Amino acid sequence: MHSFLPLAYFKNQFVPFEQANLSIATHALHYGTGAFGGLRGIPNPENPDQVLLFRLDRHCQRLSHSAKFLMFDLPANKIQAVITDFVKKNRPKTSFYIRPFIYTSDLGIAPRLHNIEKDFFVYGLELGDYLSPDGVNCRFSSWYRQEDRSLPLRGKISGAYITSSLAKTEAVESGFDEAILLNTQGKVSEASGMNVFIVRNGELITPGCDQDILEGITRDSILTIAKDLDIKVTERPVDKTELYIADEVFLSGTAAKITPVKRIETYTLSEERPITDKLREKLTAITENQDPKYKDWVFAISV
Ligand code: PMP
Repeated sequence: MHSFLPLAYFKNQFVPFEQANLSIATHALHYGTGAFGGLRGIPNPENPDQVLLFRLDRHCQRLSHSAKFLMFDLPANKIQAVITDFVKKNRPKTSFYIRPFIYTSDLGIAPRLHNIEKDFFVYGLELGDYLSPDGVNCRFSSWYRQEDRSLPLRGKISGAYITSSLAKTEAVESGFDEAILLNTQGKVSEASGMNVFIVRNGELITPGCDQDILEGITRDSILTIAKDLDIKVTERPVDKTELYIADEVFLSGTAAKITPVKRIETYTLSEERPITDKLREKLTAITENQDPKYKDWVFAISV
């Protein structure tokens, strides 16, 4: 069971987490017509009166786009104001995760997005490592990542996570830690809740945004940092077999941060990971606000 932050934002006010409950007839519960965000925050290691949120603006922008897909007009600055208030009221003392969620909130049946009420809530939980920082073993999923022509993959639409759930459970129940999904073109797309990177001959390669991926904010950050570190970066379709012979493979995400891959199916990867290590070190320093060049990625909130 998670340790939830004491207050949730629910129906336009802050209430104790235990009181933020929905009816079993809530429309989104039945049809997957919700969308969510996921942000990490930490107490500022150098100032106990501050909490640091990584790329708050980008997370709010992505959630606002997800809302638009669900025909809900929820501006990014409104989401940002609520999350800022949420953090001030909860004053988290350890590493935490914020889950803002928008959804069709009517009680009633029939899948649709028109003529239906929508709402927005926020809650948080304490969150340490989501995947083992030492690395994970992955398999290719027998499930394929959905296509953008079937649902808006640039949003974090809750219904889409059935595929992630099937893939993750298939991986874990068959002795692996995580799943990598191909898209319907047979190219590498992403993991159950992370983007995928490989390193070959010193070049950092990741599937492009046209490969049915979620446009990960950690992914975007890594691409920027890598260019800055003079690492050659290429976004292109990636074949499954490239992962077997890659020099390094890692997963990226808000929860997973940068997690190295140790083994894919029966192929063991090298334990030497110079580029993964370099990127990880830099990303950690940035999230702790220790890198002056990236100060605008870190939102310091006084609590
Ligand atoms: N893909 C999926 C399906 C995800 O759920 C996530 C986590 N939000 C990611 C990729 C990584 O995105 P981000 O770096 O923005 O957390």
